[in-house]
Amino acid sequence: METKYIFVTGGVVSSLGKGIISSSLANLLIARGFRVTIQKFDPYINIDPGTLNPYEHGECYVTVDGHEADLDLGHYERFTNIRTTRANNVTTGRIYQSVIDKERRGDYLGKTVQIVPHITDEIKRKVKQLGNTGKFDFVITEIGGVVGDIESLPFLEAVRQLRWELGRDSVCIHLTYVPFIAAAKELKTKPTQHSVKQLQQLGIQPDVLVLRTEHHIDGDMRRKIALFCNVSPDDVVQSIDAPSIYEVPVKMHEQGLDNIVLKLTGTPSDGEPHMAPWLNFLEKMHNASGKVTIGLVGKYVELQDAYKSINEALFQAATYEDRKLDLRFIHSEKLDESNVGEQLGGMDGVIIAPGFGHRGIEGKFVALKWCREHDVPTFGICLGMQCMVIEYARNVMGLAGANSTEMDTKTPYNVIDLMEEQKSISDMGGTMRLGAFDCDLREGSLAAEAYGSDRVSERHRHRFEFNGQYRSRFEAAGMQCVGENPATGLVEVVEVSGKRWYLGTQYHPEYSSTVLSPNPLFLSFVAAAIKYSGEKEKEKV
Ligand code: GLN
Repeated sequence: METKYIFVTGGVVSSLGKGIISSSLANLLIARGFRVTIQKFDPYINIDPGTLNPYEHGECYVTVDGHEADLDLGHYERFTNIRTTRANNVTTGRIYQSVIDKERRGDYLGKTVQIVPHITDEIKRKVKQLGNTGKFDFVITEIGGVVGDIESLPFLEAVRQLRWELGRDSVCIHLTYVPFIAAAKELKTKPTQHSVKQLQQLGIQPDVLVLRTEHHIDGDMRRKIALFCNVSPDDVVQSIDAPSIYEVPVKMHEQGLDNIVLKLTGTPSDGEPHMAPWLNFLEKMHNASGKVTIGLVGKYVELQDAYKSINEALFQAATYEDRKLDLRFIHSEKLDESNVGEQLGGMDGVIIAPGFGHRGIEGKFVALKWCREHDVPTFGICLGMQCMVIEYARNVMGLAGANSTEMDTKTPYNVIDLMEEQKSISDMGGTMRLGAFDCDLREGSLAAEAYGSDRVSERHRHRFEFNGQYRSRFEAAGMQCVGENPATGLVEVVEVSGKRWYLGTQYHPEYSSTVLSPNPLFLSFVAAAIKYSGEKEKEKV
């Protein structure tokens, strides 16, 4: 079949969950047997979010091909179980960069280079690039930001042109907000009407409206919205707040969103989507009894989205282990010897978060020492793994002042050091060790047992690494280097045997964890935490 292009725009306010709606639609189309991909356009000037700090933009996600991407790509992967790439996330910065590169090469043959047609053509090219691979029946394109933003205008102009060119092979879904005014006890449609008018002024008539709401929107109100917005009443659906984002595909199917898209694109469909594995996950989620309490030690605890993929990977693992996840954020800057017992005492497992820079780092060492000495299941990820190594060097191997050269360039024991390949790099953007690399796991190690495999591929985002010169000293002292990159010999996984579960990974296993394919290390860690909580219960009796 011809590739169909679905555009998802947003109106009224941001944070309505365009990413979740796009992911849910993709999930349903895949469950119907179609080949689908999702791409996100971000209207900011940064080339990618890699240089943005989490206060600005939440977590930076990493694709297998080493692109630092918007966190929505994490949702895409978690909902669809397919891998995204560099082509799935494009910013205004990248669009301008390629247009300017072409101009410098002389590709425009003396023409004046303008937003229309040159920038818009480049945007259109990026949309079609995915479709032209012939690999997809549907390309879903999410336009970041809200209609009315100055930054979004070239993207919406490109959507207008594409809609004109593609005709029935394209659909525009507009996501808006219907607020409930408590004093009047009424839902209000005016913001939706205004936002659709703004789209219409730009020459885009949405085909489908998805109304985000906290209260049920009845048929009369939907018909009213349909009438004022030139949309068929059948194509106005509500997206009511759900207790979990993973319920949204089911809710969207109940509202008929997948059928509407198939109808509008003239795509024949037979029967119902095959949702059994997804429903199985939801059933486990609803039936989970008891909880598992995990402490996440990091410095961005006040930010919901800073550790998004870790939260979701933990949630998936807890659900498959039939538990509710009780995730506690523990501020590494506020942890010290005097309060660590009280802060970590109730945890069944502790994760030491990834990160950059020295803020909060000493708190991570305090947490690790306490966890190691009390034999609490502990999982160090990226910087968390590096902290595990440093704490072990200082407190077990007697290497006082051991550190990473990221934190202390004059440390007497640089057990974590800048990677050789990084030493000549001065630019910050896109220059870390990024993307998926193979890792060989030692037979019989906790990691190999968890994966059930001796070779895995996981994603990285770092400049510093375990200093191989110390390897034999660590092994002799009980910290085993059980994971190694086969090409470079870089140490990727360390663990301390004889403990309940004490393991650190230089890579980020959370990026590859999806609802239908949860990451084995998270499953193993959560299982160990549950076992430990059972042991603690028994001790109390
Ligand atoms: N700051 C560390 C490094 O660059 C760890 C990075 C991370 O946790 N993502 O190596």
